[in-house]
Amino acid sequence: MDEEEFKRFGKQIIDYMVEYRNTVSNKKVTPPDIKPHYLRPLLPSEAPMNPEKFEDIMKDFDTKVMEGMVHWLHPHFFSYLSSGDSYSSIIGDMLSDGIACVGFAWASCPACSELEVIMMDWIAKAFGLPEKFLCTSKNGSGALEGSASDAIMVVLLAARYNALEALKDEFHFKDEDKVKLLPKLVAYCSTESHSCVEKAAKLNLVKLRILPVNNEGYLEPEVLDKAMEEDEQKGLKPFFYSAILGSTKQGAFDRLNLLGPVIRKRPDYFWFHCDAAYAGNAFICPEMRPLMEGIEYVNSINVNPNKWLLTVFDASLLWVDDQMKLIKGMIVDPLYIHYLDTKFVDRRHWTIALSRRFRALKLWFLFRLHGISGLQKYIREDIEKARHFENLVREDKRFQVHNIVRCGIICFQLGNDDNLTQNLLTKLNVTHDIFLAPTTFKNKYCTVWKEIQKKATEVLVEAGVEPEPPMQSDSLTVRVPPEHFEKLNLHLADVAQVIIPDNH
Ligand code: PLP
Repeated sequence: MDEEEFKRFGKQIIDYMVEYRNTVSNKKVTPPDIKPHYLRPLLPSEAPMNPEKFEDIMKDFDTKVMEGMVHWLHPHFFSYLSSGDSYSSIIGDMLSDGIACVGFAWASCPACSELEVIMMDWIAKAFGLPEKFLCTSKNGSGALEGSASDAIMVVLLAARYNALEALKDEFHFKDEDKVKLLPKLVAYCSTESHSCVEKAAKLNLVKLRILPVNNEGYLEPEVLDKAMEEDEQKGLKPFFYSAILGSTKQGAFDRLNLLGPVIRKRPDYFWFHCDAAYAGNAFICPEMRPLMEGIEYVNSINVNPNKWLLTVFDASLLWVDDQMKLIKGMIVDPLYIHYLDTKFVDRRHWTIALSRRFRALKLWFLFRLHGISGLQKYIREDIEKARHFENLVREDKRFQVHNIVRCGIICFQLGNDDNLTQNLLTKLNVTHDIFLAPTTFKNKYCTVWKEIQKKATEVLVEAGVEPEPPMQSDSLTVRVPPEHFEKLNLHLADVAQVIIPDNH
């Protein structure tokens, strides 16, 4: 196909994207009349034999594919965690796609490998991480993974490898028999951990004990110590703990400084990981760093800029304090890949996949176009919006806020009755326009909160509860400038989640 034509298509796609983003708030957040398999009858059942016209493809995209879209960029989208997004990271990704290099080894694309480690150092420093995680440190290093789940999978794989190596010697097992020691291994996390820890344990065939947290959502060190002692007495071998900084359920933070000493008592092979996939991005602001006090105890940490640092999916940063410990269980070196001894540790050893995108480019554009100060401003505004919203919820006595609001996650409940909260969630969701947060549009902040209050009144009336009139106080006045209202990382999902008892 003609290059000039492709340039035209490219420009049209960019125009489409910009127009979409400018008008997304006019759409319903979730598709109203969509049933599973809606798309199948709308599209041919086989790929076209001959080339089709670009205009026809775009028309189908606009009228058929778009019909089934959940609009993650909509200002009223508050389920899950928001998708990181900015033009700066998009253009970096576009460039990466256009260049189409595959940077699995230094030799396969030196710039791709080198920019990645430089970005890992830039960001580690911007987050105030200990020096031991820098690529320029003696043993530490970092790399980009596709997701937090990938990062945790790889870390657990490495922890398992190291533990089995050590136990093999302790039990005088031959290398080929060390797998027989697998049933001895026990990993730990808390009920606040993301399910990807459980998945990683499943895939790694290791036992996982999920320990209960206290009222503030963190695992007491005594609870971890006791669990590990019990297991040690049974002849089992504790080898891994995955701490959580900023849990998906309620934004809870483990206390690394309290857990660290308990873990230090364990054998050298014990691996202390920290999952900060969402909240770790806030460490770009120095005032948030007390939440990672004790970080020097951990062996590895993962943070996803695509969850809260204006970065389009995918980008998951993984740092370790000892690169060789991470990769030695995964190194394979066929001649066709390793034909050049470069003294540069190929990033292919950090991931399960061999091929790697040039992900560092989007981070490079992001950091250069916003600067650390621009990114700090973004995070601070989000936190301010969350606190403002928290205040509004607290002022209406029909609601209770259940979590300690530190980042953008607010878990609130209507009354004391789980069913009321569930009904409220359903009522809000069936509108397909989730009115939970500030938008860029004038006065919408009040409208949004009033809509929740209105629906709450309906739920209470239906339940036969005499509702108190919603507060009409000055607190509904907009404090944060409207242009900052674009995103509040409020968890609508948590409206329902707070009704789940702690011991679920
Ligand atoms: N860890 C935390 C704290 C999360 O919030 C999430 C997802 O929301 C994950 C891990 C999994 O992330 P990913 O989709 O990158 O695997």
